[in-house]
Amino acid sequence: MTSTPVVSAVGAQTFDSLDPRSGEVVGSHPVHSEADVRAAVGRAEAAARWWRGLGFAGRRTRLLDWKKVLVGRLDEVARLITAETGKPLDDARLELVLAIDHVDWAAKHAAKTLGGRTVPAGMLGANQSATLRYAPLGVVGVIGPWNYPVFTPMGSIAYALAAGNAVVFKPSELTPGVGALLASTLRDAVPERDLVEVVTGFGETGAALCRAGVGKIAFTGSTATGKRVMAACAETLTPVLIECGGKDALIVDASADLEAAADAAVWGGMANAGQTCVGVERVYVVESVAEEFIAQVVAKARGLKAGTDFGPMTMASQSDVVRRHVADALARGGHAVVGGEDSIRGTTVEPVVIVDVPEDSSAVTEETFGPLIVVNRVPDAAEAVRRANATGYGLGASVFTGSSSDGESLAESLRCGMVSVNGVISFAGIPSLPFGGVGDSGFGRIHGEDGLREFTRPQAVARQRFTLPVPVTSFRRTAKHMQTMIGLVKARHGR
Ligand code: NDP
Repeated sequence: MTSTPVVSAVGAQTFDSLDPRSGEVVGSHPVHSEADVRAAVGRAEAAARWWRGLGFAGRRTRLLDWKKVLVGRLDEVARLITAETGKPLDDARLELVLAIDHVDWAAKHAAKTLGGRTVPAGMLGANQSATLRYAPLGVVGVIGPWNYPVFTPMGSIAYALAAGNAVVFKPSELTPGVGALLASTLRDAVPERDLVEVVTGFGETGAALCRAGVGKIAFTGSTATGKRVMAACAETLTPVLIECGGKDALIVDASADLEAAADAAVWGGMANAGQTCVGVERVYVVESVAEEFIAQVVAKARGLKAGTDFGPMTMASQSDVVRRHVADALARGGHAVVGGEDSIRGTTVEPVVIVDVPEDSSAVTEETFGPLIVVNRVPDAAEAVRRANATGYGLGASVFTGSSSDGESLAESLRCGMVSVNGVISFAGIPSLPFGGVGDSGFGRIHGEDGLREFTRPQAVARQRFTLPVPVTSFRRTAKHMQTMIGLVKARHGR
């Protein structure tokens, strides 16, 4: 929750972040204007030049120092995450643990992934030495959401920094304090420059960042805002990385460990009150095991309590979306086996599980972002995949099966960026795996080698070592030269 902005006597605007559990003010932050954002980008450009000059080894040492600061201040940051999002303290700690692991991985793998290397020059380039290097972009603008206010932007921030960039970070208006605190932890480790400039405010501040001339915008948020960000960036051909929402499916095959699958479905769907981009929103269970699976889901979900096992809706208006989806699923013949319309009381939403929901219900087609799971029966795993692939989103998915080869082939047939087999959201905690989606879930990747390269531009250098006897790229070329060249091509590629 945020308050409405306040204008001070000197004309500066501020806004408060509020604790969604109590409505109490957590902190007050500036509403940064377009001029403020441009000034922040200017400062970051100077910091980026210094940071790039440190090279991979210098950056690695400092990023590993940052990691230690984050470990040392873990509870302080976790408490602020809890205050601004309402999530339980241990969930905030877990988010930080995952983020710290990413800082470590990015720091340790940047040189190997991005450092200059010689590549084969090929037949036509036999007289050349070919080198490839990945140069930083300069300043990367990071626009983040509120649901995982450290883990999510860290997927861009840590990898952009490790690649040699500075960052201007616009946190969500709901979690500005977490953004500012994150930058202060980096300042502890790297006091020489502000490598992460934080600009706070509302959508206009994020829009100003898109127009501020940064080397790339890394956006994480809703698909609707992602389209606006892309349109704004198109004006200046600023490249974008777009990480948007999802409608992730969990598939339960007949051979699956049903207890494990039910546990994953309930945790994946209800943790953080369902406010997880890669949370489980749909389950497709094979008919022959559906009754037993649903019974286990019901037993587990009934034991959960909003306010204890997960927090409230961080953004109050999200309750209306959950209510609309629950009402639509029930009106179209879905059967509530846990909770129902009464489960939504203001920002407190208790677990809801609805079975046998028509596939064109908004509860199946739209991102709910609340503690609602739809469970639908399917004749076999192939039909489960068909339905899982039937939405415009394509972020993550889970498959539960007793056969590892089926797990691999089901994963391969899913149209999405990430799959967990016999687990849920497992890929997010593996730093070497790229994270991102397809379709309405966006494009580009954070994490892993792809995530490091995302914040660079490849530079190709061909250095001539000696002059070719056949000058094909010169006006000295004769018909005889071309005959020799064609002869070579026939010998190499024509047989
Ligand atoms: P929003 O799209 O509402 O906002 C995301 C960020 O964009 C916020 O910082 C917001 O600022 C900013 N913003 C708003 N308008 C503009 C604009 N015109 N130009 C530039 N920036 C703008 O998303 P939420 O914060 O509500 O986050 C929830 C969404 O994020 C869900 O759809 C979720 O699935 C998705 N998400 C995706 C993840 C992924 O990795 N794929 C991970 C986590 C979440 P402000 O808050 O001030 O309006």
